[in-house]
Amino acid sequence: MAQQEAMTLKRFQEKFHSDDVCREHLFQIRWPNGFCCPKCEHAAFYFLESRKLYQCTRCKHQ
Ligand SMILES: [Zn+2]
Repeated sequence: MAQQEAMTLKRFQEKFHSDDVCREHLFQIRWPNGFCCPKCEHAAFYFLESRKLYQCTRCKHQ
């Protein structure tokens, strides 16, 4: 079991070597069915490249 966990961790680190891949993964975890604003449940968003944030197009929640 311990060996399996170590392999998983290694694969995890390989997968997240780039910020873009990591960000994409976090997005998938947070919004597995696509973006949904936690405040107003709006489904459209902007990605603010300069601040690495997603912002709701309706209520501007980030
Ligand atoms: Zn919103």
